[in-house]
Amino acid sequence: APARDALARLILDVADYPEPGVVFKDITPLLADHDGLSAVVAALASAGRSGADSVVDKVVGMEARGFILAAPVALSLGAGFVPVRKEGKLPRETHGVSYSLEYGEATLEIHRDAIAPGDRVLLVDDVLATGGTARATQQLVEQCGGSVVGVAVLMDLSFLPWREALGELPVTTLMTV
Ligand code: 5GP
Repeated sequence: APARDALARLILDVADYPEPGVVFKDITPLLADHDGLSAVVAALASAGRSGADSVVDKVVGMEARGFILAAPVALSLGAGFVPVRKEGKLPRETHGVSYSLEYGEATLEIHRDAIAPGDRVLLVDDVLATGGTARATQQLVEQCGGSVVGVAVLMDLSFLPWREALGELPVTTLMTV
């Protein structure tokens, strides 16, 4: 499929970033390639359709690379875009969820009125690693009264336990590393 070919060619491994021992997946060459970007946005959007029909009201993108992908996916699905951000970045009333990182804790926030009760929500991000970000984002959507229909990512890291974090939640991944 075009999306998979684009991913294999245009996502680069960067050794020892952001710290020694980590191999970071750099998606900026993919974003810079029109055909590649088009193909992956189309493939991610298919996670929000049943047949030809959109089944989502909102697409949530997680700071920061999730924003870039979630907005065009939302347009493709006839849905709105909602940002989930790190603590302190959203200007109005928020819900917050804290979760543990390898070292320490992080807090993610969503505007309380960004999701209406009953909204069906697709989560979009670039990489699924431990699943902590997606799990916390699901909890934020649920605090607003919405329900998450699935998570769509460019790439999952299969050596990390994201499936345990996400339980039965449907996950669409364009490439497994
Ligand atoms: P998790 O919460 O699943 O452990 O980590 C996923 C989050 O960290 C995503 O928001 C993703 O953007 C970021 N992330 C973790 N590892 C990588 C990586 O190798 N490349 C990129 N682009 N993002 C990463």
